[in-house]
Amino acid sequence: MREMKIERIELANTGDYPIGPAKPVIAGPCSAETEEQVMATATALQRMGVAAFRAGIWKPRTRPGCFEGVGAAGLAWMRRVQRELGLPVIIEVGNARHVEQALAAGVDMVWLGARTTANPFAVQDIADALKGTDIPVFVKNPINADLELWIGALERLNLNGINRLAAVLRGFSSYEKTLYRNPPQWQIAIELRRRVPGLPLFCDPSHICGRRDLVPSVCHQAMDLAFDGLMIECHNKPEDAWSDAAQQVSPAELEALLSTLDVRSNIPAGDLFNRYRSRIDQVDAAIVNLLAERMDISRDMGQIKREQGVLVLQSDRYNNILSTLEASGAAKGLSAEFLRKIFETIHAESIAQQLDRSE
Ligand code: PEP
Ligand code: MN
Repeated sequence: MREMKIERIELANTGDYPIGPAKPVIAGPCSAETEEQVMATATALQRMGVAAFRAGIWKPRTRPGCFEGVGAAGLAWMRRVQRELGLPVIIEVGNARHVEQALAAGVDMVWLGARTTANPFAVQDIADALKGTDIPVFVKNPINADLELWIGALERLNLNGINRLAAVLRGFSSYEKTLYRNPPQWQIAIELRRRVPGLPLFCDPSHICGRRDLVPSVCHQAMDLAFDGLMIECHNKPEDAWSDAAQQVSPAELEALLSTLDVRSNIPAGDLFNRYRSRIDQVDAAIVNLLAERMDISRDMGQIKREQGVLVLQSDRYNNILSTLEASGAAKGLSAEFLRKIFETIHAESIAQQLDRSE
């Protein structure tokens, strides 16, 4: 695959925030509901100096029977926001028809939602409908934790000449109930940054959190992880919102939040950093040696199991290992979830080594 060609998206806050103009904040309601709600929210946001106004016109709802958006009627309200308030606007497109209507209405930017990014047919249709235009396109992560699918969607757009691209981390759905509605899994966005350097990374704390009280802490984390901007759901009366009511913040709450965000800008330097870094490098090298040793032992064990007709998978033994390690890890301040993840991976690799009969 050729390298992606990425161009800058000109987007800046005009408000006086500690995060400055260079970390654009896109804000607005989950859904455009009425002309009054759109104008009231956008007026407050424009006064506050955010970079752009978002609203969903067509809403991809998980179950039928929920509010599915006002549809094309909302496009005229977005035009009013552009014309009367001078704010750039961005809406979600989920298919080629949405793109045609959005382009005809002159929206400034579009985003692909998490359910759309997960569907290559839909992404290709959208990319084809956008061909020949050069509006900025924001691509949310797919609902499932699949980086290739996310990159694939960006590539489909890029191959059709869309160069002003940005990625938006909105978290990944999980079957288990967790603190977050969609746990962020920051490491996936960090890996995206490594794989596609130069691609702006935005964070959508609203869909990650699912509840407004958690939104500030996720915004702080995103800033500390060098995200380039935020997309936050903001409604003039959040508790009355027709969709995602629990996670939207009011304009006043957003303003308070933005005044507490700041950007760490110091370049790591000096002895202290170098000392810590070299200790980490040593520990990482030791971990690699230990893993190699463990896999050597596993392969030898596999040989013995084969010779003695013993099953590769010994579930009781595995459960014992896990509970012993979780107990000793807890005493050292390591979370059970963290240890379980690591040892599930190590165990899976050990099993794979024991199944390998190629030697
Ligand atoms: C939204 O932004 O309102 C939305 C539907 O987002 P997502 O695709 O991230 O669920
Ligand atoms: Mn929403």
